[in-house]
Amino acid sequence: MSVQFAHKLAQIPGYVAGAPAGKAPESIADEGIAQLASNESPFGPHPAVVEAIARAAAAANRYPDPSAGLLRRRIAERYEVDPAGVALANGSCEVLLAAALALCEPGAELVYAWPSFSIYPYLAPLSGAREIRAPLGEGDVHDLDAIATEITAATQLVIVCNPNNPTGTHLPAARIAEFLERVPGHVTVIVDEAYVEFQLNDHPDASLDLRRDFPNLVLMRTFSKVYGLAGLRVGYAIGGAKFRSAVDAVRQPFSVNALAQAAAAEAVRHGDDVAARVERNLVERVLVEEGVRELGLETPDSHANFSWVALGDADEAEVVAALAERGILVRPGTPLGGPGHIRVSYGAADENRRFLDALGEILG
Ligand code: PMP
Repeated sequence: MSVQFAHKLAQIPGYVAGAPAGKAPESIADEGIAQLASNESPFGPHPAVVEAIARAAAAANRYPDPSAGLLRRRIAERYEVDPAGVALANGSCEVLLAAALALCEPGAELVYAWPSFSIYPYLAPLSGAREIRAPLGEGDVHDLDAIATEITAATQLVIVCNPNNPTGTHLPAARIAEFLERVPGHVTVIVDEAYVEFQLNDHPDASLDLRRDFPNLVLMRTFSKVYGLAGLRVGYAIGGAKFRSAVDAVRQPFSVNALAQAAAAEAVRHGDDVAARVERNLVERVLVEEGVRELGLETPDSHANFSWVALGDADEAEVVAALAERGILVRPGTPLGGPGHIRVSYGAADENRRFLDALGEILG
């Protein structure tokens, strides 16, 4: 008789990475491949961050600070929030998984929009809760009315991805506030702000002000995107002290490693560098959006570091394969919930031009 695994395993979708398996990221870059499939930063970390990582590496014989005290304090200072409410984890993916384990169980419900971030479908099978997906509205934007309608006495968790991955659309903080007015206080609302620094509707800190009126609101952010630290895995959430304790209770104590803590604690001090990265992203965004639209394709205005491109009559799998043959990796839309689309992350300027030239050639 063979070993039996838990039934929930069959419901977990499985993550298909954007990069080829079995290769280090730097060797993929050395081969001249444009990695436009994972919404990473094309720029490495700030030099002072690289130095902080090197310093921390020399003490790697010691376990990390389980409370990530320095990093928590720096994040709290940066956003003028209570450090007791800053939850840290091994990427914001781990914040989500821990939040689902801490908040949800059989009999509970969790609600999110779809298409949205591809990790959300893990949360129901892992926690035993029932998930409800509310379709995106007009223009691939979150339909907050549709989400509000799905909330019941059993709802424990609502996730709003803002800006939304994979569509790049964003709702201003004022719209989120109107929605929160309608959500009962027992429901935790996680606004996943992995790309918030890139959006153009509000000041990136506008959503933080909502925490004053809505204690059930949790803002989740990451060092993986604008800070260029995806390889080190640090994500955080700004919520109440109870949310942080709940997340800490269900995950392993040393989940944010010492190099990652040192890197993020340094990175958060370089606000000017973040602003410069956002500026460069905007230039590339305009180039990609205009280039794609000149080819006759539709794409919603992006508030992130990627574009969601509707391919019209072209075949998604053929386009993705033809781009890959030319050394350009993008994400096919089907596994992300949007057949007939590709999601392309903005790379360095030359990579984005290569992408547009290749797409033009393929659509011919
Ligand atoms: N949220 C969203 C919307 C994302 O797109 C991503 C990464 N693709 C994450 C969270 C997870 O980021 P990380 O675990 O690297 O912090």
